[in-house]
Amino acid sequence: MIRADLIVDGIADLATLADGPVPRVEEAMSELGRIPEAALAADGGRFVFVGTSRELRREVRLRSAGRRVDAQGGSVVPGFVDAHTHVLFAGSRPGETTQKVRGASYAEIARHGGGLFATVRATRAASDALLLEETARRLRGLAAGGSTTVETKSGYALTADGELRLLRLLARLRRRSGLNLVPTFLGAHAVPPEYADRADDYVELVVRTMLPAVASEGLARFCDVFCEPGFFTVEQAGRILRAAAALGLRPKIHADEFVFSGGTRLAAEVGATSADHLLESRPRDWAALAAAGVTAVLLPVTPFASMVAKPGLGRAMVDEGVAVALGSDCSPNSWVEAMPVVLAHAVYGARLTPAEALTAATVNAAHALGEDERAGQIAVGRPADLALFDLPSVEELGYRIDPVPTLILRQGKPVPSR
Ligand code: FE
Repeated sequence: MIRADLIVDGIADLATLADGPVPRVEEAMSELGRIPEAALAADGGRFVFVGTSRELRREVRLRSAGRRVDAQGGSVVPGFVDAHTHVLFAGSRPGETTQKVRGASYAEIARHGGGLFATVRATRAASDALLLEETARRLRGLAAGGSTTVETKSGYALTADGELRLLRLLARLRRRSGLNLVPTFLGAHAVPPEYADRADDYVELVVRTMLPAVASEGLARFCDVFCEPGFFTVEQAGRILRAAAALGLRPKIHADEFVFSGGTRLAAEVGATSADHLLESRPRDWAALAAAGVTAVLLPVTPFASMVAKPGLGRAMVDEGVAVALGSDCSPNSWVEAMPVVLAHAVYGARLTPAEALTAATVNAAHALGEDERAGQIAVGRPADLALFDLPSVEELGYRIDPVPTLILRQGKPVPSR
């Protein structure tokens, strides 16, 4: 008999995402590992049983102080993995929306000192306590949408001390939020005003001062660069990512989002774990990503919020054999917290099928974070991270635009959410 301190029974439709290739590509992206009339059990924060309700009754006994949850015919999926966020910042920028409506682009707003530079000013000026409070509130919003593993980037300080401060705050947020936070150093998010017209000097600061400090304190798993004209060139991005890799930080890249400049190709060349955004990337570079084992992280709410829709991009990439993952890109520019909304945009905008979108937001997103063993699948021995929805089948995710989970568990315990 299996002993458990948590049982979830009465699940009409369970998507385990287990037992398939990682990452999933092409047809395998539709393999959800579904179990009808399902039940789950966990002990000490890890799954000890995954099967049918009938099997549960034969095989599992609840400990005397254990908890039994009746899913009441709802559907369960792995806790979502949000593969790309910028949640660590202060303030907000609602006024920018009016500028966007009148036709200003992200790059134009930034050129005039607004956009991310407004957030840099607010973040630099904010106390640790304020940054922790505002970011913790956002993380509760992400958790409320069912996310249990979340990539979190620095990038709104753009000074050596400031970027280190942000990464140290992330370490505190990891303990406080109850979420599995994966930290990324994004010191090269933009060239700060102090280095205007001296981008190479800033790259030098990133490479010689910031990266060694981040690596020696073990503050980040990944190094990301915003590779875009007016931000960092392919050459500068390559220099930073190669230096990062030499220090044990795995490369990620914001590539070919506003215009095609070659960042996607660079991701393949440096063996990046993921290449993100990719709105203007070219099909021949997708083949390079696939060949190099780079996961494409799509952020389908961002083109919506930036008013530069690229319908069908995800569909084309999946059809070309690229491993596709999803992220919210939650930031002051595209402020979305709930992953079910991101799934809906992946379906109606990027044109993944609902099954592909669910795969992209779980098992493939975990792969894009090097969390293959810890997140994105429901299987015996893995952390008991899940989201329960009051929906009759998992096919409703990506079809309904804003479903809200009724229970979110991280390591078998309810996650602090709103
Ligand atoms: Fe981003």
